[in-house]
Amino acid sequence: MSRRKLVVGNWKMNGLRAQLPQVEAIGALAAAHPAAEVGLCLPATLIAAADAVKGAAFVGAQDCHMKDSGAHTGCLSAAMLAEAGATWTIVGHSERRQDQGESDADIAAKALAAKAAGLKVILCVGESLDVRDSGDAEAVVSAQLLASLPEGAAADWLAIAYEPIWAIGTGRIPTMDAVAAMHAALRGALASRIGAEADGMRILYGGSMNGDNAADLMAIADVDGGLVGGASLSADKFAPVIAAA
Ligand code: PGA
Repeated sequence: MSRRKLVVGNWKMNGLRAQLPQVEAIGALAAAHPAAEVGLCLPATLIAAADAVKGAAFVGAQDCHMKDSGAHTGCLSAAMLAEAGATWTIVGHSERRQDQGESDADIAAKALAAKAAGLKVILCVGESLDVRDSGDAEAVVSAQLLASLPEGAAADWLAIAYEPIWAIGTGRIPTMDAVAAMHAALRGALASRIGAEADGMRILYGGSMNGDNAADLMAIADVDGGLVGGASLSADKFAPVIAAA
């Protein structure tokens, strides 16, 4: 099964309008590398302002609420994000699981809310350093994935991102063998739930992916792209990651 590589920048809480030229430059990189699908998950305040990039690269959100509307001060619904121009959203990033106490069930509900609003979804999973050291990482992350997986999960609207928490923003990554074993385990877990649909579903690696390691990571059979934080914040740093896809 050939899966088109998906490379997505996660800008987290970074980016003012002054950075829009970087967004445009990343759009130009994406246009020059059509073999891969490229996107930027921007702060919500920049989604509508990033029009110049849409087409060559998609613009996505980093989270959405699980409800359509209501008394949820400070939150944004999937329909609001879609109206602003997002076509994808991340759900279940470990920073939200930790900082906002989001549960697996919350994340499955958010994914369904996103789908209902027409957004595609990147669902994040990953283990802590304690779990990695315990030797149980594959079982723990597979269970987390199945617990967060929304009903009707299908490759045309859902991708998975495996992001070891201890690798995010640290410059450390697992060994290539460990990444290969985890991605194979996650594809197996998906197949146990959704059967042959798992073959087409993209499983991204995230956590300190950069221009130095992207080609090796994306050469692994079950690694179908990357979710990239720090190295996506400028076109210079993101260029070699996109080129590796
Ligand atoms: P990083 O972040 O590339 O800066 O490690 C990745 C992520 O958290 O999505």
